[in-house]
Amino acid sequence: MSLTNTHQIDIQNAENSKINDVDFNNLKFGTIFTDHMFMCDYVDGAWQQPKIVPYQPMTIEPSARVFHYGQAVFEGMKAYKDEDDKVWLFRPDLNFERINKSAARLAMPEFPKNYFFNGLETLLNLDKDWIKKGLDRSLYVRPFVIATEPAISASPASAYRFIIICSPAMAYYTEPVRVLFAEKYSRSANGGVGFAKAAGNYAAQFYPTNIAQSQGYQQIIWTDASTHQFLEEAGTMNIFFRVKDKLITAPTSDRILDGVTRKSVIQLANDMGITCEVRPVSVKEIKDAAFDGDLKEIFGAGTAAVISRICAFEHGGDVFELPEPADSYGKKFKATLLDIQHNRREDNHGWRHPVK
Ligand SMILES: *Cc1c(COP(=O)(O)O)cnc(C)c1O
Repeated sequence: MSLTNTHQIDIQNAENSKINDVDFNNLKFGTIFTDHMFMCDYVDGAWQQPKIVPYQPMTIEPSARVFHYGQAVFEGMKAYKDEDDKVWLFRPDLNFERINKSAARLAMPEFPKNYFFNGLETLLNLDKDWIKKGLDRSLYVRPFVIATEPAISASPASAYRFIIICSPAMAYYTEPVRVLFAEKYSRSANGGVGFAKAAGNYAAQFYPTNIAQSQGYQQIIWTDASTHQFLEEAGTMNIFFRVKDKLITAPTSDRILDGVTRKSVIQLANDMGITCEVRPVSVKEIKDAAFDGDLKEIFGAGTAAVISRICAFEHGGDVFELPEPADSYGKKFKATLLDIQHNRREDNHGWRHPVK
């Protein structure tokens, strides 16, 4: 389907808004959804008429491929409101490119760019009252694609549905997290789908993460599947290590998700004159640095929490506590990113995207 096709969107407005039933000061992440959703079906080799309808359950046949073979990909992004009630997205072009990269890896059709932005911006305009002002407020936006063809043969489907739903969010993962460095299980493998936001990647982490949680660790930092000697990323965040005054983060690969927040942190480090090495990070060097007192910080970077401080890690029976340094880099990156996202600071790299 050509990218220049410009279908109008069919809009069916919700009769009543649910917004007055929502306590915006007490939101549990990802549990409340706005009044509308965007949908577009792929059949007969083409994306059909895009629609916006009231947020509602969908009827899908039990034989739909998504239920059997996990042919599903998603994205996670946020919309922000500034003090003048203008709505902004943060580098949404990267989310658009990434959902299509994920889709291609799962043998799913790519979604046209004009449909994506037109659908997203029309939806955000309809539901803009759900985006609250303030640095700790945003609207989490979840685009996703599922295989809907009702036929259980193990092959790519011929029918798909692209959907966008939105959920009001407060700051997520504000508590610092304790993590385990993976020694047994793996998140992704060479030549696999680790770089894609493929639904199955997350299901596969739940069991090992449950075990970690029963030991008092909220998350796992995954290591490379072949040797478990190199630190890669967390379940939904890329990871940065600060040794003395230098940052280190793993290079992206087919095992690691190419995060928008990670990319932005690397650029901000550059802007601030902080050295950031992008190279394999060994478990040994991080443990050695921790023993020597040179390991100052570990933090995760991802859209949901922006930056999450990691306050302790365990590996091979050794536990290290990491108190927050007075000059925390993670804190600085978080404040800078939030200011850029909420239009409170100059946007030197053209990252903000206005929702018209
Ligand atoms: C989404 C995600 C990230 C973070 O990516 P952002 O674009 O910064 O939100 C990192 N790792 C994994 C595995 C993810 O799914």
